[in-house]
Amino acid sequence: MKTVAVYPGTFDPITNGHVDLIKRAASIYPKVIVLVAADTRKECMFTMDERVNMVREGVDKLCPNVQVEPFQGLLVEIVKKYGAKIILRGLRAVSDFEYESQMALMNRRLEKGIETFFMISSEEYAYLSSSFVKEIAGLGGDVSTMVPAGVDKELRKRFFKV
Ligand code: ADP
Repeated sequence: MKTVAVYPGTFDPITNGHVDLIKRAASIYPKVIVLVAADTRKECMFTMDERVNMVREGVDKLCPNVQVEPFQGLLVEIVKKYGAKIILRGLRAVSDFEYESQMALMNRRLEKGIETFFMISSEEYAYLSSSFVKEIAGLGGDVSTMVPAGVDKELRKRFFKV
């Protein structure tokens, strides 16, 4: 049976840091499912459909073994539904650690057989976050090296109607 790993997140919007992690994961696991979360915890700038489409555009063709799906509800239940046992999360700075470890422990408490595996971000993306990207783009800064081309276009449209 193929090992399936899921990579959940809000991806509001997807950045090159996320893309890098997905590519690295897809070179290790036979199948990676990117799960785009409904905005229950964070208020998102982009709708679910927009976020899913941007992730699909960003990783399409690069990785044929990557599937992108929206999700809502308890993560461990969705993970089981996809027959996966591995949740992937990215770690940038130490500041990510507290929240990520709490979430990993909580998910294991909810479902013993599911493990969270952490991947350290690549150096060039260690300071990259979706919120920074939105802030910079909103102020007219150039984010073209930080996000896939489609996302750059969407951000310009959103902020400057161009
Ligand atoms: P969430 O809202 O669930 O935290 P995000 O979309 O912000 O979702 O991020 C999804 C995952 O990707 C998280 O584990 C986050 O730490 C990680 N991540 C975010 N940006 C980067 C990056 N630049 N490099 C590596 N991992 C990242």
